[in-house]
Amino acid sequence: MRKDDCIFCKIANGEIPSKTLYEDADFRVILDLGPATKGHALVLPKEHAANLYELPGDIAAKVLPVAKSVAEKMQRNLGCIGLNLVQNNGEAAGQTVPHFHMHIIPRYAEDGQKIGWVPGESTADELEEVRKQITE
Ligand code: 5GP
Ligand code: ZN
Repeated sequence: MRKDDCIFCKIANGEIPSKTLYEDADFRVILDLGPATKGHALVLPKEHAANLYELPGDIAAKVLPVAKSVAEKMQRNLGCIGLNLVQNNGEAAGQTVPHFHMHIIPRYAEDGQKIGWVPGESTADELEEVRKQITE
């Protein structure tokens, strides 16, 4: 299903033009309009899914091979020396466009970007409690 008011549905399906790096039956990979670094790209499924939870399993299984192939081209042709894959789900996680997308962000020496989190602290008991909460 495509969602009428979803900008990434329109881009993924070619109704709105984009700088396309790759396309197949399930995906379009485009350059991000506000690139964190040179080559910053987005993997967009053509079918609408708001986030990872809504993404069908068969499409989820194809996302990483697509990202890997584009990442390899970036390494070869842009000369990036690192790469971040980022995938935000929900406003709390920084998602601003509610159509699943995976960021591919090539990294360069002193590119001025910082992608990460503030490390916390945890005891073994706390980790065990969380492990149980997630898995039981
Ligand atoms: P999020 O914050 O949801 O993980 O990422 C949304 C990304 O989409 C941002 O990096 C933003 O620059 C990009 N973006 C938003 N609107 C458009 C658009 O119309 N075209 C393109 N190419 N990128 C967009
Ligand atoms: Zn959509």
